[in-house]
Amino acid sequence: MIASKRFCASISFGKDSLCMLFMLIEKGYPLDEVVFYNTGMDFEAIYSTRDRLIPFFKERGIKFTELHPDKPFLWLMLEKPIRSRDTGLIHKYGYSWCGGPCRWGTGEKLRALKKHIGHNWDYVGIAADETHRFGKETRANRILPLVEWGISEAEALQYCYNKGFFWEENGIRLYDILDRVSCWCCGNKNLKELFNIYRYLPTYWQQLKELQSKTNRPYRRQSGKSLFDLEEEFRKSIKEDSMIKKSAIFV
Ligand code: SF4
Repeated sequence: MIASKRFCASISFGKDSLCMLFMLIEKGYPLDEVVFYNTGMDFEAIYSTRDRLIPFFKERGIKFTELHPDKPFLWLMLEKPIRSRDTGLIHKYGYSWCGGPCRWGTGEKLRALKKHIGHNWDYVGIAADETHRFGKETRANRILPLVEWGISEAEALQYCYNKGFFWEENGIRLYDILDRVSCWCCGNKNLKELFNIYRYLPTYWQQLKELQSKTNRPYRRQSGKSLFDLEEEFRKSIKEDSMIKKSAIFV
């Protein structure tokens, strides 16, 4: 007898996958298992969202599986011996920042999810306006419900807010200051996001600086700026901004 395909959902506990999950359940779609790949580097708000939902899965008889990298993220980033393709000799330790053309963490994650989900159906929370991500998801067993339903990123976020999920840390809603609530150490963060982490999430900023002090590669590869350079710029811009505001009072 051929076993029928199971229905899995790959969930990051960010806004899009969470919205997809609730809508799947509300609309009565089949769902056997929720799979979360835990890099160990997610924001606390992601972990608290996960913890809030585990009882919800249990109540509905939905299996919850948490996958982990084979080797710790920080070991891969800072310590793994890397051999030169030309000489075969170890020429550096660690892949450094994960992001841009060197998204080694994404590769690990996709491999682990593929291996676990296999040929079963896989619901993936890509929003209808994330067209740049469609092409990257080419597996025949993937299902993109948010695309099918025409749900944009903004609509997914609002839907989660309406359900009472806000991803708050330090009194700040993370989606107010970040474009993506993925790994806090993600090398893909833009200047606006970095500035906001510096300004509103000092604990993460401190952790980012600790990572920068352990890797030779500057965070901003193209401009060659490290997080220490950026901190200097951010500090100056805040100072200048407050001076402009103060002088405006006396005009
Ligand atoms: S979110 Fe960023 S750091 Fe995390 S795995 Fe993806 S690319 Fe790498």
